[in-house]
Parts: sequence; structure tokens; C-alpha cells
Amino acid sequence: MELIALPNQTDLTLEYDDTNQEEFGPCPDCGQKTKRVWGFVHRGDVAIAIYYVEWTPAHQEKEAAFDLIIGKWGEDASAADRRAVSLGYKVLESGPAFMVQDASRRRIAQSPLICEALDRGAVLGTPTADHVFEICDLIYLADPRIAELRPAAPKL
Ligand SMILES: [Zn+2]
Repeated sequence: MELIALPNQTDLTLEYDDTNQEEFGPCPDCGQKTKRVWGFVHRGDVAIAIYYVEWTPAHQEKEAAFDLIIGKWGEDASAADRRAVSLGYKVLESGPAFMVQDASRRRIAQSPLICEALDRGAVLGTPTADHVFEICDLIYLADPRIAELRPAAPKL
């Protein structure tokens, strides 16, 4: 189990173990395997999300899909308390960026853990958007399994 926090930036932490990853595919474009890693996000002692990050390491573009299930977890919670939100990650010329996408078009929309897959229009401009950007920023910065998705450091 890994517990990772960025002190002074957020009170969120990530938790996952070595089994929280798989490969699938092949990608229809290049025939290479796609990779998926996942884990939990906690705020203090409370689990607030599960995240899945998928990407194809052979692709030249640094692109990934971040699928989140946000809401309540634990024995007194059910799928009615949880929703899926999906973000696309891309490294643009201006730097890395996340864009909210339609979760209904993602495989996560079929998850038995949720009651609803939120589309872009239901997320943008709401507190949910701030919430999922905070979560994705932490995953991006703190999960070493996706280090290859970060842009290379500029040459000095
Ligand atoms: Zn491919």
C-alpha cells in the first residue's frame, strides 16, 4: 500500500497497491498494449474517489484518460451516492492540461459502483469541476506509476 501526500498543497492522499494495474488491448491503431492503473483518493481518513488512468505507452503523444468515481464509500454508502466523471489529459504546447469529457461515453459508465455518469455539461462550472481537477492534479503530480505522462523537463 502506498500513501502519498503533497504537504502544504492539499489534504488529499492516494492509496493503491501493486495489484492495481493491468494491460489490455491491443490498440486498434498501433497494436500496442494499453495500460490501466487505479487507486483510491482519501481526504483525511475518508475515501472520496476511485481513479483509473489509461494510456498507451507506445504512443508518442502524452495522452491519457482519467476516469473517476466520486462520492461516498464505506458500508453505509451505495451506488446511489456515487457518480462517474471523466477527464482527458494531454500535454499541449502550453503545458499539461485536463479537459472534462462525457463520462457516458466511457467504459466507466457501465460500472455497478455508480448511479450516473456525468457529461461535460453537467460538470463544467460546478463545484464538481473544482473537485475533480483537484483530484486529477494530485494524481498527476503524486502517482509515480504515471510519471512517463509528464512532459520532459525543459533543457537548460
Ligand atoms: Zn495505439
